[in-house]
Amino acid sequence: MNLNLKDKVVFITGGSRGIGYAIAKKFASEGANVIISGRNKESIDTACDELSKEYGINVKGYVHDVSSSIETVKIFEDIINTFGKIDILINNAGITKDNLILKMTDEEWKDVIDINLNGVFYCTREAIKYMMKARAGKIINITSIVGITGNAGQANYSSAKAAVIGLTKTTAKEMAGRNIIVNAIAPGFIKTDMTKNLSDNVVQQMKDSIPLKRLGDADDIANVALFLASELTNYITGEVISVNGGMFM
Ligand code: NDP
Repeated sequence: MNLNLKDKVVFITGGSRGIGYAIAKKFASEGANVIISGRNKESIDTACDELSKEYGINVKGYVHDVSSSIETVKIFEDIINTFGKIDILINNAGITKDNLILKMTDEEWKDVIDINLNGVFYCTREAIKYMMKARAGKIINITSIVGITGNAGQANYSSAKAAVIGLTKTTAKEMAGRNIIVNAIAPGFIKTDMTKNLSDNVVQQMKDSIPLKRLGDADDIANVALFLASELTNYITGEVISVNGGMFM
């Protein structure tokens, strides 16, 4: 099946590890030009080296904190200067700083909102400037199951992820007339650095509560990102696709 992603330019925020890196590999395997970002230079450099060696594609990495609108503006300018266009934006960068509401500090609240929500807004605002001129583009926002269900201990994270769903739908409505398609993926419990410190007991409880009886792999999310970025889904916009093994239906 031809997904028509060859020579497309895709920017994956937080593409150095975990779900973002799995997405980067999928797009690289389809011949796209892949751009990734993250705060840690070493992991960006390692990921870029692996991607270009393994797939022989054009790849570029940026040290980037998505919560900085100033850095974001500069990176998009550089992407356009280097590649001439941006076809696909994947707003994937995210962090957790869990605590119960009573104990949550201002900093824990603000850091998670700044990265997981404001970062999506800053990147979207820049990407659509260029996509509008091209009258084409795809934006995929990585939200979370807890943005739909809520989760004790994650007031900051679940609020940011719920807001990303609202932002996804609003962007889809504002941009539909310019042929810019905007959707979100809501992963359930995926095996990455973000979830690796949970106790065996908690992981077993999670598995027991998932109808498909396993945690998700980063590739389970990457496959759906590829599908949503492809021309197979040009009539889907403003949707949230749950990828959670049936954990929430
Ligand atoms: P990881 O912690 O494995 O990777 C996070 C990535 O985001 C890294 O590349 C990290 O690089 C980057 N990142 C973090 N903060 C910033 C920032 N301020 N600016 C730019 N890049 C940043 O997480 P996952 O792969 O698990 O998560 C990816 C997305 O999926 C997140 O949005 C997460 O909320 C979401 N998700 C994950 C689930 C899971 O179970 N794993 C479930 C539901 C949603 P660096 O640290 O170098 O900045």
